Amino acid sequence: MTQRREHAVVVGGSLMGLLAARVLTDHFPRVTLIERDRFAEAVGSRPGLGQARHLHVLWSRGLEIAEQLFPGLEDELLAADVPEVRVPADMLWLSSAGWRRRFESTRLLTFSRDLLDWTVRARLAKTGNLQMLTGHEVTGLLADAGAVTGVEVRERGTTEPGEPVTADLVIDATGRASKTPAWLERLGYPAVRETLINPLLGYASRTYAVPSGFDPGWKALYLQADPPRGTRTGALFPQEGGRWIVSLFGVGEDYPPNEDGGFLDFAKSLRSPVLYEAIRDAEPLTPVVSYRRTENHRRHYERMRAWPKRFLVSGDALCAFNPLYGQGMTVAAKSALTLDACLRADGDLDGLARRFHRKVIKNASGPWLVATGEDLRYSTTQGATAGLQTRILNRYVDRVQHLANVDPRVCDRFVDVLALTAQPQSLFLPGVLWRAATTRTRQPTGPDDLIP
Ligand SMILES: Cc1cc2nc3c(=O)[nH]c(=O)nc-3n(C[C@H](O)[C@H](O)[C@H](O)COP(=O)(O)OP(=O)(O)OC[C@H]3O[C@@H](n4cnc5c(N)ncnc54)[C@H](O)[C@@H]3O)c2cc1C
Repeated sequence: MTQRREHAVVVGGSLMGLLAARVLTDHFPRVTLIERDRFAEAVGSRPGLGQARHLHVLWSRGLEIAEQLFPGLEDELLAADVPEVRVPADMLWLSSAGWRRRFESTRLLTFSRDLLDWTVRARLAKTGNLQMLTGHEVTGLLADAGAVTGVEVRERGTTEPGEPVTADLVIDATGRASKTPAWLERLGYPAVRETLINPLLGYASRTYAVPSGFDPGWKALYLQADPPRGTRTGALFPQEGGRWIVSLFGVGEDYPPNEDGGFLDFAKSLRSPVLYEAIRDAEPLTPVVSYRRTENHRRHYERMRAWPKRFLVSGDALCAFNPLYGQGMTVAAKSALTLDACLRADGDLDGLARRFHRKVIKNASGPWLVATGEDLRYSTTQGATAGLQTRILNRYVDRVQHLANVDPRVCDRFVDVLALTAQPQSLFLPGVLWRAATTRTRQPTGPDDLIP
């Protein structure tokens, strides 16, 4: 029997939704993206993307995929005055194991999250077969004969249900607060199993004007905590518009304060004074804002025995990570490519969910290991404790961190794992393993000792 493939609906217009919608426009004659916020005409914040006011790093694999889906995107971002930062060549990076020499392992475009989403959205809006239904909230799923057939919607700010939207495929990209578990239960499906590992991490962030004439020989700072006792991390990155974004992070409820004096005091308490000294007299452009919903959260849809056909969940709604390691957007980008590959490989929409969820979870397993492995160094982390395997793994990662500080090849491998161009297992390949076992390291003594 031929399956209808006329109309696809994506719920949620943040990065996962935007990239999924872009992919679907290659496979469906009509795609509708439903977002409960109304998008502004210009770059700006919106309630559904509160995290945009905090540092967002898009690692190289994520940027590559975004460029693949929207050719020329990178040039557009550069034309919008987005700085380039070579990692760690343009940075002072104090890792948990000490200062990292300034090798050139990768590069980042350090845009604000609002600019990234705005640029991607503007490109997507030009796609002929895509419609954006903004200011509308999805409130449930329509289903018939074991398949999802569309969504219930309501205009934001009203209580009356709107006209339902029917579809041949629906994707939930509504992020951490996804209502899919409740929507499925309403349709009679069993509760989904979930894993929550919560490091009780808080963010506080604000932007500053880069002081005129400021040229200390670095563009960005990353001062990491040294677990298990050290709980505080700070980062400063340049952004378009001559700004710095400064984010402070505290684990185990050591939350950075969201008022001026407390913010500066927290910055002063980091393992190096360099960030505090940079911002002490700089002009703040925004108030301090905070964010605390940062737990690692997996919903195990791939394990459910019963699942409605033609319904997928992706992005943070499926698997969200402690954002400190900057992995969510790149995992979302990889998931968009997985969607494309699944649709190209097999036209069967009824079996798509199982294939897609399994592959996405496989792709997310490396980032999950990185984030939860680091979080389990703290006894305050809730939801799991570090078993013997994690403790041995973390001891080895400590050794790799020491080496990455002084050895360019190990630094490359380590950054590849962070940037999601390699799996964490690649740190066990003979090249790294041998160096870890045999190399004696002299660690750099401070920022002045970092040029290789
Ligand atoms: C503080 C913080 C910092 C982060 N830093 C980084 C970083 O440095 N690097 C990185 O890669 N990732 C980072 N992340 C993660 C990143 O923000 C997400 O992984 C990324 O946005 C992809 O998420 P998503 O699109 O799945 O969901 P979200 O970004 O949460 O978006 C969900 C969207 O769905 C909409 N929505 C919700 N419910 C409905 C509904 N019922 N109907 C219609 N629309 C709805 C919302 O308005 C929103 O637009 C960070 C996250 C946080 C919280």
